[in-house]
Amino acid sequence: MSHRIITIDGPAGAGKTTVSKLLANELGCVRVDTGALYRGVAYEIIQQDIDWQNNEILTAFLATLDLNFILTKEEPRLVSSGKDITPHIRTPRITMLASATSARPAVRSALLDLQRNIAQEQDAVFEGRDMGTVVFPDATVKFFLFADLTVRARRRFDEIQDAEKDFYRVRQQMEKRDADDSTRSQAPLKPAPDAIHIDASHLTARQVVTKMRRYL
Ligand code: C5P
Repeated sequence: MSHRIITIDGPAGAGKTTVSKLLANELGCVRVDTGALYRGVAYEIIQQDIDWQNNEILTAFLATLDLNFILTKEEPRLVSSGKDITPHIRTPRITMLASATSARPAVRSALLDLQRNIAQEQDAVFEGRDMGTVVFPDATVKFFLFADLTVRARRRFDEIQDAEKDFYRVRQQMEKRDADDSTRSQAPLKPAPDAIHIDASHLTARQVVTKMRRYL
């Protein structure tokens, strides 16, 4: 039996995570934040001090990688070799390294089956950059969620706890990450041809979900 798979792609800070939480909750299914997997790769690269620019070293490292999701209806956890690394993958350093390393074909293909296997097991909302284009071209419904850069940077800025935070730096890093994610040759960030586009610049997460529900 094939399961209902809903994909939400879009740039950083568009609200994908909040929206997919609400939506998965309403639909009674799990949500999968695929960005966490790329962050998990970056986390292990730092922990193990891997020279990821070297293809052979990167391939050998990926062969030993043991990433898994524990998907509960509450907070999903990312586990690496049995250790819950969820609390450690949201640092600015990991964010930028995840973006850089996710452009490598070896990294993308190492994570492909893991994502597809989850979809074999259950209905799910998947969020990421290439869900509708590469990972699930036959998804039930595909959304592309975007918002103005300044709105997205403001949301991210408001989430940061650090007293030293700097809005222009947050905005600049977000702009660079989007540009890198959109222009890479492997699975660039772009809407699938059959994706429903939603501009969230002036919408709350609740309003976005209400719009989505019209298609579900
Ligand atoms: O979604 P999040 O911001 O946590 O993703 C971190 C990085 O992982 C992104 O900037 C992007 O480079 C990469 N990513 C990806 N493909 C996905 C999800 C995330 O390349 N499906």
